[in-house]
Order: sequence, then structure tokens, then C-alpha cells
Amino acid sequence: MEKIKIDKKASQSLDKYLEYRRIVGDEDGGTLFTQAQYEQYKKRVVPQRMNNRLYVSFGVPGEGLECKLVGPETQCFCSHRYKQHRTDFEVLSSGAPLALPCQVKGCRCTAYQYVALSGSQPARCRCKHKAEDHSEAGRHFCNMCASCSGFQSPYTCGCGQPSYAHHTLVETRQQRLAEGKPVGRDVPYKAMGGLTGFSSLADGYLRLDAHQGPEKQSASETRREEEDDMSYFERRYQERLKADKISKGLRIKDVRQTSRITVSTGHKDDHGPADLHSNIKQTNGCGH
Ligand SMILES: [Zn+2]
Ligand SMILES: [Zn+2]
Ligand SMILES: [Zn+2]
Ligand SMILES: [Zn+2]
Ligand SMILES: [Zn+2]
Repeated sequence: MEKIKIDKKASQSLDKYLEYRRIVGDEDGGTLFTQAQYEQYKKRVVPQRMNNRLYVSFGVPGEGLECKLVGPETQCFCSHRYKQHRTDFEVLSSGAPLALPCQVKGCRCTAYQYVALSGSQPARCRCKHKAEDHSEAGRHFCNMCASCSGFQSPYTCGCGQPSYAHHTLVETRQQRLAEGKPVGRDVPYKAMGGLTGFSSLADGYLRLDAHQGPEKQSASETRREEEDDMSYFERRYQERLKADKISKGLRIKDVRQTSRITVSTGHKDDHGPADLHSNIKQTNGCGH
């Protein structure tokens, strides 16, 4: 992975761009919103996210343990990420369980569903075939064999229960509050799913046992991207805390201006930071 160093001004515009992406996702259809469009988008969507946020987790019903908290980059059974599913709702219908269908063109996934990972790969079905060998629609029948009665993985989760005993749970804020579960702070970002804090990244059983040993290393691509996500949110959180301290006139000895940051460029469509700056400031970013 290539590392580049950029100066403070560029890092600010990169921050701005990242913030834009966390809020807008791909909903600009590939053309950056103008400043006016961006403001309008935020005005419409941010209050919805504050009021109607959905919390997505993977766990055994009745056990109360959330074995996996689903974040923006967490893969679905259909192979697409959580952020590629419908996550914004103007109104939440009470009662009926919410299904979060995939929005990728051609994908027939009707409800976001987490698949436990075995190492870095989704765990296999009882029929021995991979998750991807099964239909993403309906009950996930196997495309490779006739004996499969729908994807079910016997893989044992860290909690000791087989994967098939788990469900992907979609909850509203009210439902979680009623059960005394954490809801985290209000965030304007798209597809935050079940992430409610900065320890949310670890699987449930790791969170509980955090003091008992070194954290597990995972080679999973998904996990790495989630870590990037979380370090981003952690940084934003720390910055906000510092800003709060400043505005309250408290001692702020620990505030350090970082004039350089290191950025990993893992994206195919990276523009230079200067580009980001001019793009984000443009009032008409239409390229054709
Ligand atoms: Zn999909
Ligand atoms: Zn899906
Ligand atoms: Zn199967
Ligand atoms: Zn099969
Ligand atoms: Zn579990």
C-alpha cells in the first residue's frame, strides 16, 4: 500500500472530502454535489438519520450478546456492503420487521444479512458450498447442489453457538433503549448500522474479554476497511472533544496541531488532494 504525505491545507480538504463521503455515500451518482445541493441533502437526510437510525447486529436471539456489530463496510450475504443497502428511512413503520434490501443494480438481495466469517472468508454452508454459491434471494438455496435446504452454516461463532443459530437483527433506537442497549451518539453519517462506540469494532466476545489478552489480528479485507472507518470516527470524535474543551474555556494543554497526516491510498479512483479541494469547492462539478 502506497503512503503519501500531504500538508495541512490539503489534509483539511481531504477531511472535508471524507466527511462528504461518509454523509453522502454514493448518492450523488458519481458527480459531487454542488455546495448548495450538499447543504440541501444534509438538511433533508441528517434529521432522518438522527430520528430513524437503524442498528444492525448479528447475534443469538434471547442471548442478548451482539456477536457482530454491522458497520458501513460489513459484507452482506449478497457480497455487497452494508452501505450499499437501503439504510435511510423517512418514516419507520412500527411493528413489521424492517428489511434492508440491496441497492446494487441487478442484485436480488431483499434483506441485509450478515454471514459469519471463518478466517477472512464467509463460513461455508452445511452443504459444503460457499455462501456465494447460493442464491442471494429468498431462502438462499444452493446453485451447486440439490441437497441444500437453504444456506445454513454450522461454523461455531466465538460465543460458542453455531452460526445458523444467529440472526441479523435490525432495531430502532426506541427498541434498543427499551432493552437497555447502547445507542451511541447521534451521527450524520450514512449506514452506521450497529456501530455505537469506538470499541464496537471488536466482536462481542472480544469486547467482553478485552482485558484478557491481545486483540486478534484479522487478515480480512472487510475488517481492515472497518478499522479505517473507525480510526476516522475516533479521530473526528477526539477533534470534537477538543473543540468542546476550547469553547468551554478549559485547559487544553493536550491540543496539538497536526500539520501533516499520512494517508493510505487504497482506492482505484483517487484524485490528488488538490483535486478534492477544488472539486468540493466547485459550484458546478459536472464533468460532461
Ligand atoms: Zn447485493
Ligand atoms: Zn445484501
Ligand atoms: Zn447450502
Ligand atoms: Zn450446496
Ligand atoms: Zn455468536
